[in-house]
Amino acid sequence: MILGAHESIAGGVAESIARAEADGCEALQIFTKSSNRWAAKPIEADEAAEFRGEVERAGLSVIAHDAYLINLAAPDDEVWEKSVAAFAHEIERCSVLGIPWLVAHPGAPKEAGEAFGIERIAKGLDAAFDLVAADGAGVLLETTAGQGSNLGWRFEHLRDIIGAARREARLGVCLDTCHVFAAGYDLTTREGYDALWEEFGRVVGFDRLRAFHLNDSKKPLGSRVDRHHRIGEGHIGEEPFRWLVNDARFADITAVLETPPLDDGTASFASGLIKLRSFEG
Ligand code: MN
Ligand code: MN
Ligand code: ZN
Repeated sequence: MILGAHESIAGGVAESIARAEADGCEALQIFTKSSNRWAAKPIEADEAAEFRGEVERAGLSVIAHDAYLINLAAPDDEVWEKSVAAFAHEIERCSVLGIPWLVAHPGAPKEAGEAFGIERIAKGLDAAFDLVAADGAGVLLETTAGQGSNLGWRFEHLRDIIGAARREARLGVCLDTCHVFAAGYDLTTREGYDALWEEFGRVVGFDRLRAFHLNDSKKPLGSRVDRHHRIGEGHIGEEPFRWLVNDARFADITAVLETPPLDDGTASFASGLIKLRSFEG
């Protein structure tokens, strides 16, 4: 497994690389813009060149995460169109930075329901890909905790969205361990872990799996609440992470921590990565 963390881009996207190196990352996830705003100034050519050069030098496997305002399942046409445009911009920003995959929460259809939401998201992905170059970044649909009306908390949602979208080759999946656990997939026993992967393989397919978010969970199994915890300190515990980092099926998968800071306020990524690496072998 290629282990790393979600690092801040404060000071510019290239600044995330020094943070990743300081934390001992081999993988890096970033927001390519502010995660809670619609607009962003375009990435300048020199900024992109610097980022690409630094990634190359540091030997990092990089993915990006989209902004939280985007909702490709929005029933409101105005919000949906704004989301599609913003999402297309995010795909483009990844392409400019040489980042192969943009991780995205599928979307929340609110009272419009699951079937509407799945179609709406697939159409949103189609519309966004229509707006960008054909050879750019792809999209990884993230498994979610299923808070509110958020889709993606069942593997079937991801299968159906990918099946309904036109550009299947540009779509994959990012599995968040906190989210699947909160959604009700019990990976804490060996039987549950094996059952989860049997189901994932059957419903989604291992060839779609491109990334992990490695997070423990502050909330119990099936709570449908998304609260990350540090590795080994939540309801998932250490053992499932030991299985994951030693699972030969995932040896080449990019995996990043999105864990909350330590009690003294400092980031938990360096210590989390040391812990995960101590599980290996
Ligand atoms: Mn996410
Ligand atoms: Mn995540
Ligand atoms: Zn989360």
